[in-house]
Amino acid sequence: MTADIVPPAIRRRGLMLVLSSPSGAGKSTIARNLLENDHDLSLSVSVTTRPRRASEIEGVHYHFVSQREFDRQRDSDALLEWAEVHGNCYATPREPVERAMAEGRDMLFDIDWQGAQQLKEKMRADIVSIFILPPSMRELKARLKRRAEDQEAVIETRLTNARTEIEHWKEYDFIVINNDLDRAYAEVRAIVTAERLRRDRRPGLFDFVSGLLDEKTT
Ligand code: 5GP
Repeated sequence: MTADIVPPAIRRRGLMLVLSSPSGAGKSTIARNLLENDHDLSLSVSVTTRPRRASEIEGVHYHFVSQREFDRQRDSDALLEWAEVHGNCYATPREPVERAMAEGRDMLFDIDWQGAQQLKEKMRADIVSIFILPPSMRELKARLKRRAEDQEAVIETRLTNARTEIEHWKEYDFIVINNDLDRAYAEVRAIVTAERLRRDRRPGLFDFVSGLLDEKTT
């Protein structure tokens, strides 16, 4: 059998790319750039009880739901992980992830440390986790202010929560310091490329290599 007749679903296992950082460290921009430039990667669209921001689109950035609907989904086991962040509930819907993994497609998860821990417990082999750090707390605060989508009180809560989030940095496979956005983005891309090339994610290589070894060169 040659590599090109290996069914796509088994050519490579799907990758679950988990990106975490405190709010304002640049994770959303890096995630957006990745999704725009890498068409083999799709976003896991979370469910949240947080009110929609003006710039956000239902079904694209999040599925915005009531607390009642959130509880219903959680109780019916429709959520792969869930957590309370900044006083609101967030969760990863189970079905799109299971479908993507079965089809060998890669998914990006913009989730916090609590979600990363839960996913790791359930699907360790498929997870690649990256934590993005700000260059300083002062810069983090400045970025949150510049974003100005949130009230002053919300910014203060997010700064306090940032410290808790950062304390979990050691639980991640890779650490990227976002001092310069282009550089941080390039580093994340390099991680994704390297992880896709890992031998243990590519069962299709067995056939490819036996094809190589069987090939006559004379
Ligand atoms: P924001 O309200 O700024 O969009 O997100 C707040 C935090 O919630 C971010 O750190 C984001 O990564 C996290 N978050 C978003 N979706 C999920 C999710 O489905 N699960 C978990 N555990 N965290 C999430």
